[in-house]
Amino acid sequence: MTSPLLAVSGLTKRYPRGGKTIAAADNVSFHIEAGETLALAGPSGSGKSTIARLMLRLIEPDAGHIEFEGSDFLSMNGAALRHRRARLQMVFQDPLAALNPRATVARVLDDPLRIHHIASRAERPRRIVTLLERVGLSPGLAGRAIHEISGGQRQRVAIARAIATKPSLVVLDEAVSALDVSVRAQILRLLLDLQREERIAYLFISHDLGVVRAIAHRVAILDAGRIAESGDARTVIDAPQSAIGKALVAAAPRLSRIEQDAS
Ligand code: ADP
Ligand code: MG
Repeated sequence: MTSPLLAVSGLTKRYPRGGKTIAAADNVSFHIEAGETLALAGPSGSGKSTIARLMLRLIEPDAGHIEFEGSDFLSMNGAALRHRRARLQMVFQDPLAALNPRATVARVLDDPLRIHHIASRAERPRRIVTLLERVGLSPGLAGRAIHEISGGQRQRVAIARAIATKPSLVVLDEAVSALDVSVRAQILRLLLDLQREERIAYLFISHDLGVVRAIAHRVAILDAGRIAESGDARTVIDAPQSAIGKALVAAAPRLSRIEQDAS
């Protein structure tokens, strides 16, 4: 048996709250296979972003294990961690906050190519053009500043930056939530195309089950830091068993419509 791309077990992160502690992530376990999309869904405050930050080691857990590409990710450091980090990228909800707004598009894409030694200085301009084309942007945008381009274009730049290092897994934390409906559908289409062509796995975090149903193979539904239920995305969303799953489905009235837009 081969091990999954990512195996998370017993992940726990506690925060102090009014003299007590709350578990933002409470004994969370899941796995992701290569080329697969697992969605983490749940209401605001259920621990989705905490899990995303734990995956990237932006914060460290109080307990649990993360095995990524066959290695113990939490015990890695130095050059080994830097090398592995290139394989695990993140896209955030707000690219204006995640990217330097005054940087040019070219600069944003040059950074990962340089830092991770993906391409030489002479090769990088051509790589940047290829990346822009890859995410459906005109190479003519390279000289524009991040704050000058549209929200949809910015999120495409964020995706281009994420795939620049040829990751096997991209964590997307509400990456399409701030986009209007038609732009959201285009970005979902792009993510599906990239996954098919480059076999990238996604940990796709969203509070919106319509979007989850359109993009995810499997879903885990979080409630107050715990996984309330998980399984095949359509099976769970079409017939949720948990109280939180039922509440989220009731809050997503246009499930079938969003799916049509993305297909
Ligand atoms: P979600 O992304 O699902 O909205 P979060 O992971 O952001 O949820 O938050 C989960 C819980 O952890 C919330 O109760 C939140 O207030 C708490 N929390 C998250 N980050 C911190 C922090 N740095 N310090 C204290 N509490 C936090
Ligand atoms: Mg969040």
